[in-house]
Amino acid sequence: MQNLYQRDIKYLPGVGPKRAEWLEKELNICTFADLLYYFPYKYADRTRFYKISEIHPDLPHVQIRGRFTRFGFAGDPRRKRFVARFADDTGSVEVVWFRGLRWIQNAYQTDREYVLFGKPTVFNRRINLVHPEVEEASAYEKSLTRALQPFYSTTEKLKNNFISSKTIQKLMNNLFEQIGQNIQETLPPYLLEKMGLMPLPEALLNIHFPESPRLLSRARYRLKFEELFLIQLSLLQSRKIRTQKTEGFVFSRVGDSLNEFYEKHLPFELTKAQKRVIREIRKDMGSGRQMNRLLQGDVGSGKTLVALMNMLIARDNGFQSCLMAPTEILASQHYRTLKNFLGNMDVQVDLLTGSTRKKDRENIQEDLVSGKTDILVGTHALIEETVRFSRLGLAVIDEQHRFGVAQRASLWKKNERPPHVLVMTATPIPRTLAMTLYGDLDISVIDELPPGRKPVKTVHYYDSQRLRMFGFLKKQIAEGRQVYVVYPLIRESEKMDYKDLEDGYESICRAFPPPDYAVSVVHGRMKPAEKDKAMNHFIAGRTHIMVATTVIEVGVDVPNASVMVIESAERFGLSQLHQLRGRVGRGADQSTCILMTSYELSREARMRIETMVRTNDGFEIAEADLKLRGPGDLEGTQQSGIPFTLRIADLGKDGQLLQYARETAEKILAGDPELNSPENRMLLETLRRNQKEYMNWSMIS
Ligand code: ADP
Ligand code: MG
Repeated sequence: MQNLYQRDIKYLPGVGPKRAEWLEKELNICTFADLLYYFPYKYADRTRFYKISEIHPDLPHVQIRGRFTRFGFAGDPRRKRFVARFADDTGSVEVVWFRGLRWIQNAYQTDREYVLFGKPTVFNRRINLVHPEVEEASAYEKSLTRALQPFYSTTEKLKNNFISSKTIQKLMNNLFEQIGQNIQETLPPYLLEKMGLMPLPEALLNIHFPESPRLLSRARYRLKFEELFLIQLSLLQSRKIRTQKTEGFVFSRVGDSLNEFYEKHLPFELTKAQKRVIREIRKDMGSGRQMNRLLQGDVGSGKTLVALMNMLIARDNGFQSCLMAPTEILASQHYRTLKNFLGNMDVQVDLLTGSTRKKDRENIQEDLVSGKTDILVGTHALIEETVRFSRLGLAVIDEQHRFGVAQRASLWKKNERPPHVLVMTATPIPRTLAMTLYGDLDISVIDELPPGRKPVKTVHYYDSQRLRMFGFLKKQIAEGRQVYVVYPLIRESEKMDYKDLEDGYESICRAFPPPDYAVSVVHGRMKPAEKDKAMNHFIAGRTHIMVATTVIEVGVDVPNASVMVIESAERFGLSQLHQLRGRVGRGADQSTCILMTSYELSREARMRIETMVRTNDGFEIAEADLKLRGPGDLEGTQQSGIPFTLRIADLGKDGQLLQYARETAEKILAGDPELNSPENRMLLETLRRNQKEYMNWSMIS
């Protein structure tokens, strides 16, 4: 059976080398199995036959049965069309073709019975069927399609090469003729029985050729469950194996530097959530297992402080820590923040980025190896081969979605044992997605903001209200506040975006002239040093307005900034908007976020803007984002190294099923961690097969 599954698609009757090439190029279908798992995106009800007298133009589709009575060309020679009449015992209807005329004119006969399926339209005040699906009644009887007709997504290119949804449907028919009898179950019988699941052969048949809506829904349930369940099983198992096999460093001591910091330097009371999360992390790092934990917390929830306190615990146990940030600006900001927090404490913090000078780099390297450095802050530069630690015990990764899984993995190579890993993200990830993406990580959540913060007020302005917006900024600046103005930067249209930014910068400079006002600008084309300089002017309060591209998206902390203006807000994704908004509202004053858009907004863009105006809750926004865009698009999923694409389950809608699948997987693994018992053999084999397909990703997260 495996061989049959893996057989090259070109050997399927009806495919051949040409079509195989197209299928691979456009749909990534290379084997029989790929086609088998290429599921329809919708179905049309074909249970009902209409009489021709019943047809009216409001019907989405009609299916009729009858005979052609006459054929002929119509229209002027340049815009010729082929017209037929089709009749049953209640009347007749016109059928029209505009394309493929040479073929069509000889395709059908008047002495045979046909089934037509198409959308009724009105032309010249008469009802027409344009390019309907036509099938001989005898073939219709034999085809697998009965009640519901599947529709497969195709591409323009495929359609131009005569591979339509209907073509795929026919290929699917052929496929089932070839392998229908040989499809093997992947889940053990006890599971099918317990969960009331449809067997796989039946489910696959019914997903493509549903016999009834009820069977279709059972087929979908079965396939969704299997998909989610196998992912969970695999993630949970690899976590089990990892935690059993890899011993972690044991941080058992609560020592001097943590105590000193807590008693003398901590500038405020920790929030309850911060305390809880620190406890969770400490317990984990003291357990003897290697920690792999995701720390989720909305922007401004105080993750940096949590990271610092854990790095102090590492130090008290004789270990070094590193803190990685995705950009240089962020890395230097973290560096300053940590230095500030620590004050005159005897803790050595160093900063290493791509632009660190060679001489400094050598000094830093020396201190790292000799163990003098306690905390190393930096960018990707940290994971370069040449950077060596004496005893790296804890790696903190901020804003994880910019780091790939592979990069996380390379941290492990710096030691004889992997350090504890704490991944911090401010992109609130809905539970369902977190479970799938990070199913092998433990999760801690800071679900509380430090006290005294006023929620940011969000308003939506159209471009025509720009003067009013400027007026508001002037008032805020007069009160001593600072302002961000952010422009989108999206790669494909980079040139245009820079033009927007430049124009915007100029008009702001005109509206806010010196000496009363000072404006900074930061964008991706500047050298790191220039960026830092501009950023530092703003941080120090020497400039009033910071005009920027999204480089300030994450992490920058200027409590005095109270207004965030987002230009072309319709071009940003929800989670990006939320991140940007999180840059203000950090001080005690009322802050405002102004979303500027043009008048013309797509439905989705409007929903995003409305969501932003309605709520400040990061998790609510993340859920909305997931519903709007679907998980494949969700920020971060591309780079997170998600090793699979979901074919049928939908994380936006199938959260409950996912939960169920996870619990089921947990229970099975609790009783049989290695899946060695005879009743779980089948699961083990299924997992092995899947994992071979998806490289050895379970090793690296
Ligand atoms: P995050 O990285 O989670 O977005 P930060 O760590 O940058 O948030 O913290 C945001 C701001 O809140 C910082 O200025 C930080 O000093 C401050 N902060 C952190 N914890 C507390 C607390 N418990 N009470 C008051 N302010 C806090
Ligand atoms: Mg942060």
